[in-house]
Amino acid sequence: MNTPTITVPVANPGAGYLVLKPEIDAAVARALASGWYILGAEGKAFEAEFAAWLGATRSVGCANGTDALALALRALDIGPGCTVITVSHTAVATVAAIEMVGATPLLVDIDPIHYTLDPTELAETLAHPPKNLPPIRAVIAVHLYGQAADLEAIQAICARHDVALVEDCAQAHGATWHGKKLGIFGAIAAFSLYPTKNLGALGDGGIIATHDPARADRLMALRQYGWRQHYISDEVGVNSRLDEIQAAILRVKLHHLDAQNARRQQIAARYDAALVGSVLRPPARRENASHVFHLYVTRTPNRAEIQAQLRTTGIASGIHYPAPVHLQPAYQGRIALGPSGCAQTERAAAQVLSLPMFPELTDAQVEAVCTALRALR
Ligand SMILES: *Cc1c(COP(=O)(O)O)cnc(C)c1O
Repeated sequence: MNTPTITVPVANPGAGYLVLKPEIDAAVARALASGWYILGAEGKAFEAEFAAWLGATRSVGCANGTDALALALRALDIGPGCTVITVSHTAVATVAAIEMVGATPLLVDIDPIHYTLDPTELAETLAHPPKNLPPIRAVIAVHLYGQAADLEAIQAICARHDVALVEDCAQAHGATWHGKKLGIFGAIAAFSLYPTKNLGALGDGGIIATHDPARADRLMALRQYGWRQHYISDEVGVNSRLDEIQAAILRVKLHHLDAQNARRQQIAARYDAALVGSVLRPPARRENASHVFHLYVTRTPNRAEIQAQLRTTGIASGIHYPAPVHLQPAYQGRIALGPSGCAQTERAAAQVLSLPMFPELTDAQVEAVCTALRALR
């Protein structure tokens, strides 16, 4: 049997360029004509516009989301001799960033309904920290799939134990918690601007947000060799800069982000309706929060069969993520886990299934997905 052509992909960054082509082309032309390609006017303007949009005091661009997390940890003086708690059900980048700065990751389980850090495990881990690990200095809360982790509980636990809260907002640009955008609730927040993210460049990019101007100044030094003035390194830094072409593109895209998130929410509502009574469990929404659907993630014990059924009608689906970080070859057997041993994480990894989700999906494509969902057995 022939495999049918995929007519509805899971993501489509090319479509995201085409709908804004005249504006993006003009912005790229402007950046090219400026004669200044790294850390110039476009980058500065994008940082100011992003901070204003987010509701943060400052933001600092960098080369990618992984660096954004690592720089955030560096700016909090997290490094060798520190343990950082996060989850195993995330992009590997979250854990890679912890090891990049020389700190030790400790991975706790998720709540199986929202797939984000389980506050009960966090509290237990901080109350009884593993004796063989360095002191716990920070928690990275990952706002996965476009929805907030349980910030109320996590903020309170972090405050009680005096550990820094870092938000991994790589999948949650514009998502809110009690009406305020994610990225302002911890000491510092890191965003990826990878092409498929809700706010995506046409290349790599990242940005870090903070309320503390001194910390922002330090981030500006850390991202460029530790320079506070040219050619003089105050401390050991890295090279992690956002280029002017990407910054110019991101200024255009930031302008459209709220409308694009609203379109994602509209598509999600149509999928929800098609999944009433279905074998596929739709994503749960938190109260007092808005979900921006970086991914629309369903759950089923029969994932392989469902993927195959969708594929016969040309509909792609994805798995985010098929293997928890602690079970991947580079990490297996050497990463400390929370008290449950990440049992819920392992169960979720075997059952999650992402449906097509990007703002440029046409109504006809959304309808095709809904029809296929209703036909699932
Ligand atoms: C994409 C992503 C990152 C890493 O971003 P890059 O820009 O690819 O380095 C980090 N954390 C999460 C949760 C992500 O989804």
